[in-house]
Parts: sequence; C-alpha cells; structure tokens
Amino acid sequence: MIGGKLKLFSRILGPQFYDRVLIISGDSLNSEAGAVYQAASPRYDAVDLHCHSTWSDGALSVPALMARAQASDLRYFSITDHDTLDGQPEAFAESEALDVPYVSGVEWSAVWGSYLIHVVGLNFDRSHPASLEAAEQQASARKKRARRIAHKLTREGFKGVEDWLAEQTSPGSLGRPHFADFLVRSGQIKSSAHAFKRYLGAGKVGDVKAHWPDLDSVVSWITRAGGVAVMAHPHRYRMTWSKRRALLADFAAAGGEAMELGVPGIPPNMRQHLVTLAETEGLAGSSGSDFHHDDQHWLALGRVPPLPQSIEPVWNRF
Ligand code: AMP
Ligand code: MN
Ligand code: MN
Ligand code: MN
Repeated sequence: MIGGKLKLFSRILGPQFYDRVLIISGDSLNSEAGAVYQAASPRYDAVDLHCHSTWSDGALSVPALMARAQASDLRYFSITDHDTLDGQPEAFAESEALDVPYVSGVEWSAVWGSYLIHVVGLNFDRSHPASLEAAEQQASARKKRARRIAHKLTREGFKGVEDWLAEQTSPGSLGRPHFADFLVRSGQIKSSAHAFKRYLGAGKVGDVKAHWPDLDSVVSWITRAGGVAVMAHPHRYRMTWSKRRALLADFAAAGGEAMELGVPGIPPNMRQHLVTLAETEGLAGSSGSDFHHDDQHWLALGRVPPLPQSIEPVWNRF
C-alpha cells in the first residue's frame, strides 16, 4: 500500500524526488522500514562500514545491529565502535550465525594539529600485536581523559560525576555521550544536546584532546594489522577547505587509503570538493551511516548514498 503510494508520488514528481519521498516516509514509520526501502531502491548502496553499538556510545547491542544488517541484506557490514575492539568477537560470532558479510571495524580517535580526527579501521587482523597495542593505548587514554572530564565538570559545579565515573567498570569504551547522559539522568541538565553545546562539544571545557595519539600512529596501527585506514566523516571537521586538503594529503602520505563519501547528509558543494580531494590524493571511497540510535531520525543503518562513479569503493580492497 505504502509502496504503491510511493511509486505514484515518484511518477508524479519525477525520479529525482524518489529519494526524498523515501526518506520522509522511512522516518515517519518504524526504524526497520528503511531497510525495505533501501533494498528496493538503486539510490542506496547496500553497505554500512561505520556504526556504533553498546560497546561504545551506540544504543543497540551487536546482535540487534546484526539483525538489522541481515534484514537490509547488506553486502558489507562493519561495527566501528570508538577506540575499542571489545565488541569484535561478539560481532564475528553473530555475523556467522546470521550469515552477514562482516569485516572487522573500529573508529580510532587521533589528533592532527589542534583538531580531533576520527579514523575508521576496516578489515584488519584484530589479534595482530599492532591492534592489541592500539586497543590498550586507547583504553588507557580514554580512562585518563574521563578522569579529567569528570574533574572539569565537578569544577563547573556538577555533583556526583566522579562517584558515577568510579562505578563505570563495564568493558567497551566510555565517552562524552555517557557523561551527557549522566548529567541528564541526574537532573542537572535538560538534554544531551545542551550538555554538548555548553560543556562537552568542540572547544568546551569537557573537550579534552590531550591523550589522543597523532594521525600517523593511528594509521599505522591499522595498516600494520593488514587493514584499510579510512578518514571518517571528512565533511564534519570544522576547518577551512585548504586545511582539509592538507589533512587529507597528510592522511594519504601516512598510508590512509580511503575517505568516507557514501555518507548521508553531505551538502552537494562539500561533496564535490571531497570527491576532487579523493581523486587528487588517490583515495578510495567508503560508505557508512555512523548510526548510533534511532533518535537520529535522519539516517538509518545500511542506508547510504552510492559512491560517485569516479571513486573506487574501498570494499574492492577487502
Ligand atoms: P568521544 O568519543 O568521547 O570523544 O565523544 C564523541 C561522540 O560524542 C561522537 O562520536 C558523537 O557520538 C557524540 N557527539 C559529538 N558531538 C555531539 C553533539 N553535539 N551532540 C550529541 N552527541 C555528540
Ligand atoms: Mn559516537
Ligand atoms: Mn566519528
Ligand atoms: Mn562514528
């Protein structure tokens, strides 16, 4: 019924509107709906190489994500939790059980100059010494950073942050969204968005970058373990276009092989700029939703725009 209406809409409005109609309908229905539309539409690639589970700051467990990946009939799937490999054994076990084509994944935090940069690692050997070293170093960096953030929030007048932090002993990684959730749940701030805007977002008191390794080290953790290093969401860094060009040149020189381009919500002029950079630097393209939870109603797991024809898909290298 709904599908029929969509076809009718698209016939009236023309194919260029089909995408938009699908997105609007998907959002107003339940979150599983996206999978059906995505499978029916050539406007999406059935690939998702960037998303988060409860092992970091995602709301869904690995089995729940894997079930969605299966329902969307994804050709390639990876769960890329922040700075931890703790969820990968469960991801591999689930992917075998559900027959989902899964590759190992992670999103490492790094610094480049004064910028916090995220690098996605894909299809690496998670038992390689470089991966173990990376996981250990990032876990320790996150622990130190969490204590600094707790201290700073306490100085801002928030109560109970250090006690709450002392109780957080689960495996996986703890990040700023967890601090934001604590402040909301303890009635000290009205929303997570507000917590980021005032205290945790870029340049605010809780944005502690001091512990992250440099870009080259992070890329080398991935490449030494036989994986592909991907520049995550290059459109989201607040920097000038010439800085972004320098970032991607440094990334490629360090051994970075791809950048995310099949990502929902890149403005057209930025996309064109990024495609030109990818061509110049000889970078392949990767695709992923960066799905965290269903409140991000503008995106869905496995629903990513296709890569431009001129860009080699990173999964050709798996
Ligand atoms: P961390 O990994 O601890 O540095 O925290 C960064 C994470 O916080 C990102 O991966 C997002 O999931 C989340 N985040 C970043 N900025 C915001 C924001 N303005 N509002 C809500 N969540 C955010
Ligand atoms: Mn996140
Ligand atoms: Mn990121
Ligand atoms: Mn992410």
